[in-house]
Amino acid sequence: MLMIPGGKKIQNAGSFEIFLITDYQDQDIRNFALADALVLDWQQPDHAKALLKEIRSSFIESIYLLPVFIFNADGIVGDTERALSDGELSVMQEEPIVKVIRQVKKRREDFTPHETNSSENRILTKLFRYMYTRDKALNPEVDVAAHMGYEYPLIRLHYPAGESMEMLKILRRGTDTDFFQGTFVDKTHVCPSCHSGHLNLREVCTKCASAHISSESLIHHFVCAYMGPEGDFMTKQGLVCPKCNRQLRHIGVDYDKPSVIYRCHDCRHEFQEPDITALCLNCKTVTPVENLKEIVLDKYLLTDLGRDAARSGIKVEGEEREFTIPGFVNFGTFLTFLRFEIERVKVSGKESQMGSVSLNLPARLRSNRQQFERLVLDISDFIRNNTDSSDILSFASDNTFFMIFPEKGDMAVEKMLYDFRTSIEKLLVNTFEDESEWNLAAQFETLNADTEYNTLINQVKTI
Ligand SMILES: [Zn+2]
Ligand SMILES: [Zn+2]
Ligand SMILES: [Zn+2]
Repeated sequence: MLMIPGGKKIQNAGSFEIFLITDYQDQDIRNFALADALVLDWQQPDHAKALLKEIRSSFIESIYLLPVFIFNADGIVGDTERALSDGELSVMQEEPIVKVIRQVKKRREDFTPHETNSSENRILTKLFRYMYTRDKALNPEVDVAAHMGYEYPLIRLHYPAGESMEMLKILRRGTDTDFFQGTFVDKTHVCPSCHSGHLNLREVCTKCASAHISSESLIHHFVCAYMGPEGDFMTKQGLVCPKCNRQLRHIGVDYDKPSVIYRCHDCRHEFQEPDITALCLNCKTVTPVENLKEIVLDKYLLTDLGRDAARSGIKVEGEEREFTIPGFVNFGTFLTFLRFEIERVKVSGKESQMGSVSLNLPARLRSNRQQFERLVLDISDFIRNNTDSSDILSFASDNTFFMIFPEKGDMAVEKMLYDFRTSIEKLLVNTFEDESEWNLAAQFETLNADTEYNTLINQVKTI
């Protein structure tokens, strides 16, 4: 029987593995791969939210597609969280959960395994599969905590705050290639330098840009044709014309207020149309409103072509071009070698190592494909020249170098990865000069008689 620490099994007529999670301490999402559905108790909203996001961030299909419900008697659930879940329950009912389990299982039968070396395609395929199993549209959700003030849940999990434009670009790509049908929902404006949607819009002086201005009506006295600010007409006896000293009586009859005049309290400038500028509350850039970046917020639905792509993965010509790196094997072959190596050390009683070096580059630095491929080839050359011919090398998911070192020893591998890291770092500094938003992660696993292939693969796939 399946057990999940911190989870209570919910009995149901369909004998599905449904768990109510009440304890969020030390939850490991890998434990959920065999569950049929989870119900998250919303008593600890922060913990529940974090776990929900972690589940939907995974690239493991049985985890990110898992039906997850929110059990919430009286708390508040945000739109983003609701959109990431399969529904909200205020009492524990079995039918809505079982309905989603059955639908997701049925839809997943249509899927064929999909491998891609493009991180964009990997994200899009995941999004399509999620939408396909749920018949869900991808809606922009208002979220005060979001960088833009809006979120596209799920896809957003793969783009940090500073990369919202990259995120919108990939959605747009989905529409351009007819996988999505976009329908207009709303528009918003963001800061052109950091793309934050948190802006303070205010009227400012046309001369010195100070916001310390006030407006006053202009009064036109018909009788003597004098025109001046309302303040000049104010007396204890009411409105009196400063030019002809007559009392003003009825607006529209003997006087009018044709317009407003603005006065700056800093530079004393007077003007009729103030400028409007936006102060970005995130990076403090001040931008005239007409220069703000306009973002169209569409709602996305899968087209027939999109549903096809959900079933078999995205094939875009050119994009899918496998990197052929001399001396490197493709990832599928690498996994086969890995399985053999684990079997081999089980028999021999010796130890081998598997190492990885991940390049975590923001999408911005990957967007120049030629530059990126050259960089990958340079690193590959370096790795190949500094490993033995018996070592197995691979490059996967557009970001990670994998290596199997048969019987090399932990110490030697650790030193080797350290050297790789140092040299690759130098290469990245040279390539991206003053860009510093990348990081490198190098790690290794010892392969011995206790190594479980499946556990190791799950770890590898989450890198
Ligand atoms: Zn007058
Ligand atoms: Zn001024
Ligand atoms: Zn900004």
